[in-house]
Amino acid sequence: MELRLYDTLTRDKRVFTPIDKSRVRMYVCGPTVYDFAHIGNARPVIVFDVLYRLLRYVYGDSHVVYVRNITDVDDKINARAARDFPGMPLNDGIRKVTKKTERQFQDDVTELGCLPPTEQPRATDFVLPRADGKADMVTLIKKLIERGHAYEAGGEVLFDTTSMPDYGALAGRNLDEQQAGARVAVDAHKKHANDFVLWKQSSAEEPGWESPWGRGRPGWHIECSAMSAAYLGDVFDIHGGGLDLIFPHHENEIAQSRCAHGTHAMANFWMHNGFLQVEGEKMSKSLGNFFTIRELLDKWPGEVLRLTMLKTHYRQPIDWTVKGLEESWKTLDDWYWVAGDAAGDRICKPVLASLGDDLNTHQVITVLHGLRNKAQGGDENARNEFAWSLRLLGFLGKSAADWAAQRQANADVDASKVQSLIDARTAARAAKDFAESDRIRDELAAMGVVLKDSKEGTTWEVAR
Ligand code: AMP
Ligand code: ZN
Repeated sequence: MELRLYDTLTRDKRVFTPIDKSRVRMYVCGPTVYDFAHIGNARPVIVFDVLYRLLRYVYGDSHVVYVRNITDVDDKINARAARDFPGMPLNDGIRKVTKKTERQFQDDVTELGCLPPTEQPRATDFVLPRADGKADMVTLIKKLIERGHAYEAGGEVLFDTTSMPDYGALAGRNLDEQQAGARVAVDAHKKHANDFVLWKQSSAEEPGWESPWGRGRPGWHIECSAMSAAYLGDVFDIHGGGLDLIFPHHENEIAQSRCAHGTHAMANFWMHNGFLQVEGEKMSKSLGNFFTIRELLDKWPGEVLRLTMLKTHYRQPIDWTVKGLEESWKTLDDWYWVAGDAAGDRICKPVLASLGDDLNTHQVITVLHGLRNKAQGGDENARNEFAWSLRLLGFLGKSAADWAAQRQANADVDASKVQSLIDARTAARAAKDFAESDRIRDELAAMGVVLKDSKEGTTWEVAR
């Protein structure tokens, strides 16, 4: 099949031809692990999971290498560790924050039906030269200095953006315009407004590594140049992330990698997903419309979130609404019912053609509705193609019977009855009548309701 992908760098949709079809290589920027991932963060994870599955289908499961990093060194992490673990040495607090957050992230995305990437390197393992000789940040920075692309100033190492003639090509910015119109004040030690940090000094409490430039820590961008080179080499096939990463993050990754390796490209295709907003507004904590993946998974099955995400083409903005989630759930109820436990052993060419057209999942869903109707009319081939397509996209993770049972459990629970039982249990606990509070908890459990007690009070969910 032909696969065409849109490349942000060249601004066109081209036929994808891997550099080496026995080893197709993709890198996607992963999470900074300091807090629960929000539903916007789930978008690149799901979108590139679909691409990963498609590449595995086309080139073979063992011929695709997908790397998604974990950013576990970042000033946001330091701040969170100082806030949550005061009195603990900062590095210990940092480890606690990153470990817990990383585990949450892995659990969340597994529930969204995403396959684990081939490699999930952590930034902190790639700061210093490694025993296995894989690329690392300090060696890359040294190379950049040697080749005249970076300089030391004010205790930092900075990338000299004027040393690269086509710096700014990804974002489509002209460097001179940017320099002239730069609104950001130029730090005294920077030679040019766009120059960015490769290495900065750390105070005694901050996380730091001994380097030729003193004890310090890397800038954000250099980690992806190091980890992609470590697993995928100097030039690879696809690099992805959300469109907010185009500038400065990906622009700077390109600058670092190309200048360090002396290549004309870092990746042959640059792919960016559009942004997610909630009920027509930018998602933000202050607007009260900020949702973590975890909160949504308490109410909706992972496949409902996944389908809601894939209804929109990945480059378009998504408006995330409760109405959309409800529709997706109804659709999946119907699809599970129609697909039943079909063998799913017939490939569906129209689905492949739509996916091959720059991952047009919106169109795939139209094809699926057509197949569903044929299958419902008794066409067994259509039913098999339908089930095959759903599995290719990462659906039908449950049996039809389990799906129906989960739906039933959700439908049967009377929320006001649950709340009055919870209130009675809270009262029993306040009166230290633990026999009664346990009895109520068991009664709720029999209804399929699981309680979660916290300082803020008791919340509940239907066991899935
Ligand atoms: P961060 O942890 O902020 O670096 O983000 C991790 C990934 O999520 C990046 O690829 C971002 O581009 C992406 N991302 C963050 N917010 C959104 C959003 N609202 N919609 C879509 N993607 C997002
Ligand atoms: Zn990155």
